[in-house]
Amino acid sequence: MTTTEPERTGSLLKILGVTKMYSQPDNYDILVLDDINLAVERGQFVALLGPSGSGKSTLLRIVTGLSEPSFGTVLYRGRPVSGPNPHASMVFQSFALYPWLTVQQNVELGLTAKGIGLAARREKAIRLIDLIGLNGYEDAFPKELSGGMRQRVGFARALAVDPELLCMDEPFSALDFLTAENLRSELLDLWIDAKIPLQAILMVTHGIEEAVYMADRIIILSKNPARIAEDLAISLPYPRNRKSAEFVQLVDLVYKIVTGSDEDQKARPIQLGPQHKNIQTPEGERARLSPIPYGHLSMLTGLLELVSDRGGRDDLYRLGAELLLEVDDLLPVTDTAELFHLAQVDEGDLILTEQGRRFADVDVAERKNIIRRELIAIPIFRLIERVLASKSNHAMALDFFLDILEEHFSKEQAERQLMLAINWARFADLFHYDTDTELLYLADDQIDDAEVIENGTGRDHSERIE
Ligand code: ADP
Ligand code: MG
Repeated sequence: MTTTEPERTGSLLKILGVTKMYSQPDNYDILVLDDINLAVERGQFVALLGPSGSGKSTLLRIVTGLSEPSFGTVLYRGRPVSGPNPHASMVFQSFALYPWLTVQQNVELGLTAKGIGLAARREKAIRLIDLIGLNGYEDAFPKELSGGMRQRVGFARALAVDPELLCMDEPFSALDFLTAENLRSELLDLWIDAKIPLQAILMVTHGIEEAVYMADRIIILSKNPARIAEDLAISLPYPRNRKSAEFVQLVDLVYKIVTGSDEDQKARPIQLGPQHKNIQTPEGERARLSPIPYGHLSMLTGLLELVSDRGGRDDLYRLGAELLLEVDDLLPVTDTAELFHLAQVDEGDLILTEQGRRFADVDVAERKNIIRRELIAIPIFRLIERVLASKSNHAMALDFFLDILEEHFSKEQAERQLMLAINWARFADLFHYDTDTELLYLADDQIDDAEVIENGTGRDHSERIE
């Protein structure tokens, strides 16, 4: 492999019709990636931007050969990838270092695997440790290092094998702000000055600013399932100034696309290609529960009050910046606002509805009423409420609902959905969960509504045993 003057033109990587499904025990398949087509050229720094859970890591694992697509192919330099791609390196979000090895030994790992001799290994590792700003720490152990230093070791280890393609999965997101900023510009220096024989970079991120700051091309993924919503060239010269008008404009544009594509996604029914015949579609015999967005109600309330103070409409990007929220944190909250008919997202703005304005004005009791009315109209809440109302003790084991949800979601997602549903329902006083008995039980008000008050005295939920 040449280490000087790498060729930096031409296509390096082709992702052709890549689709990924995860099978669930009950035969439902979850479609995560839907027909992704993408070519990465030599010399490109590509950011893959998408909300959390959209399938970014899945795509990256497929590209590096760590995971196989259900359909489609990945070509690397024109050849199908099967098994780990030796020309690609991966940097993960968490510092995947071996705690019992020193910095130097950690960096040498990939070289050992390649069968490179001891002397050459030493020399190379020392050079990279130096390049990444860790000289003097060769013999330190990971536990002696700060998070930022550990991530530097992660970079050095990934770069030690002279990869052509560097894949990074949210590499800066676990670092504090300043450390992340330093490491970003250092990596950019290495890349732009061609101090390393890299030919292309593929970085997964959910940070819009990070993508605009670093990449020359941004691929925006939509969610459920992931599709390419936009392929955007960023031609700002390096080093980029986050305060410049062009930069701010681009960030704003990406913000609009990200929030807008989410809108389209909701409006558009899932279209499955002919290769997905065996997947049960939402029109199948059993209706699918759609997931509720992971929005916290306290954040929702705060956001609505803020926007209400500003006349009922504000720019999402500005709101995110003020609240120090990445779009990834903000979108679930705005999705929740939309679900509850409190606001609408339009052209990157959040606009309160009539009900949203009222919500921002009224007291907590009335807010609970509004949310409760909205919850009862949402299938997952209706289901739980009906089951509880139909029971004489108005209680039911958590596991019962988990089992139901696992028919619609992955195990992990089912748990997360149910916990969130319990959280919302508690706020709205619809139903509650007792961690001791592991029972869900209907709130007292709801029991009166349900008109099945046989156990008039059984108000103490701890007495309600299945
Ligand atoms: P991202 O990196 O964008 O946050 P991921 O690629 O990690 O998203 O995951 C995308 C979706 O695929 C998620 O809903 C996740 O729960 C699901 N998923 C990921 N890995 C598996 C797996 N091994 N089995 C089942 N579902 C999975
Ligand atoms: Mg991920």
